[in-house]
Amino acid sequence: MKLANLGGRAVLVTEDRAVDVHRASAGRFGPDPQSLFDDWASFAQWASTATDATPEASVTLDVAALGAPVPCPRQVFAIGLNYAEHAAEAGYPPDSMPVTFTKFPSSIVGQDAVVELPEGHVDWEVELVVVIGREAHRLEREQAWDHVAGLTIGQDLSERITQLQGTAPQFSLGKSFPGFGPTGPWLVTPDEFADRDDLAISCRLSGESMQSSRTSMMLYDVPELLVRLSAVCRLLPGDIIFSGTPAGIGNRRTPPRFIGPDDVLVSEIEGIGTLTTRFTAGD
Ligand code: ZN
Repeated sequence: MKLANLGGRAVLVTEDRAVDVHRASAGRFGPDPQSLFDDWASFAQWASTATDATPEASVTLDVAALGAPVPCPRQVFAIGLNYAEHAAEAGYPPDSMPVTFTKFPSSIVGQDAVVELPEGHVDWEVELVVVIGREAHRLEREQAWDHVAGLTIGQDLSERITQLQGTAPQFSLGKSFPGFGPTGPWLVTPDEFADRDDLAISCRLSGESMQSSRTSMMLYDVPELLVRLSAVCRLLPGDIIFSGTPAGIGNRRTPPRFIGPDDVLVSEIEGIGTLTTRFTAGD
């Protein structure tokens, strides 16, 4: 199943159209995309039979108009240094714990967002984003995928001066300017992937390839991240986890490269699609 947010309404994505969840379910689910995660198991069960049965609920799919598939997560976890080559370029040895911070939920946007660039050095980080479908605390590794509603593409946009200033760096602030959490274009359920643990992941800035790797290169894979995070926090339905970025970020290039107002950032993950983000100069 592919689930999207079309103008604030949950839709199932079919070939080139979409099915309005609220109408197709006669009001049982939606229209708010975030509400589906409260009873994800029932929704997924219904959705598995719904796609073709309801022509009156079929709507045109305008991909550029899609909002974030998870628009208002209660918790947004983000993981740093989760690919060895990226940890090395950033100057850190691999850690014995996943480096964990948050992107405050007000930073979350969807497909084709136009992000106003704050003063400073704005950098890209393509990431696989995991969406929680069932509450979890102290998960065992074997159960972890059962708690995942789906996967989507994310950009952990980062203003490096804010992020790295001070004695203890300000990761969460430097990564939470408005629009700094593009996600989408839609959520794809884990059963749709041939191998959900090994997906090609890449991004291009204005046509130039910047990052290219595979999610199987993560130091802590998706089940391990859920085990480690849920050992401390309760993971709630509709929470999202940015799972870390591969090598190729802008501030470790020679010379450094940062995002400018005319740049277009295209992020891609195998089996999900592409997420486009545009930028504009700040005042
Ligand atoms: Zn990141």
